[in-house]
Amino acid sequence: MITLDNVQKRYVHPENGSWFDAVLPTSLTIEQGEVFGLIGFSGAGKSTLLRLINLLERPDQGSVIVDGQNLVSLSPKQLRQARQNIGMIFQQFNLLANLTVADNVAFPLKIAGWSHDKIVKRVTECLDIVGLSDRVKHYPAQLSGGQKQRVGIARALAPSPHVILADEPTSALDPFTTKSVLECLEDINKRFNVTIVIVTHEMSVIRRVCQRAALMDQGKVVEIVQVNDHQIQAHSDLARKLFEEA
Ligand code: ADP
Repeated sequence: MITLDNVQKRYVHPENGSWFDAVLPTSLTIEQGEVFGLIGFSGAGKSTLLRLINLLERPDQGSVIVDGQNLVSLSPKQLRQARQNIGMIFQQFNLLANLTVADNVAFPLKIAGWSHDKIVKRVTECLDIVGLSDRVKHYPAQLSGGQKQRVGIARALAPSPHVILADEPTSALDPFTTKSVLECLEDINKRFNVTIVIVTHEMSVIRRVCQRAALMDQGKVVEIVQVNDHQIQAHSDLARKLFEEA
């Protein structure tokens, strides 16, 4: 379970030098095994809120509790350990271009000090889960966008995390590839009960894979929407605008 308790993040405005709230004080609970969306227009604070969950951004106030541990109060070493439990995938995949598919997936396991034999076994398992067993020795440049994102998913999954954070994971992909990547994430969620928090600006992504989503505007959660049988139950003006955009 993830609990954000009154988290806030401020930055200095690049143009006028004054402080502004990228995320206003926000409290949110995400259940273990849930697929939870963060949706809103560009600049709403979605990525910042997501990055507060693994402390890629440190909150200016509040606590971030993942599996009962307040990440804000951990030492750097404890935080590195806690992050083993929180995988992340990115819009632009963030694969290492000079490493093979297998070595990209092995990367977090090497850093975590796994033995060679355990790494080989786990990398094989993860590439099988994402349907890329035939691409082990390829390099990222030899893959399609959808395949690159699957490598990203396999890499995030490798240390068997309880949580995967996904920052606009399908925004660089065409609709067909988007569908297959979302199915891959759904499959992982169902098989391994991994909590997935997914940032998107597309209502269709929320409708397809999420159980709930936070609608964000100007650093604030405006509404928590429920998704039942792929139908979004929403009432705010922001939800209407996001639907119009879709
Ligand atoms: P979203 O993901 O909804 O597009 P972000 O969380 O990326 O929004 O950004 C929210 C606001 O915070 C934006 O105004 C953005 O320009 C600003 N911001 C994000 N990261 C930084 C940073 N490292 N320094 C200064 N401003 C930032």
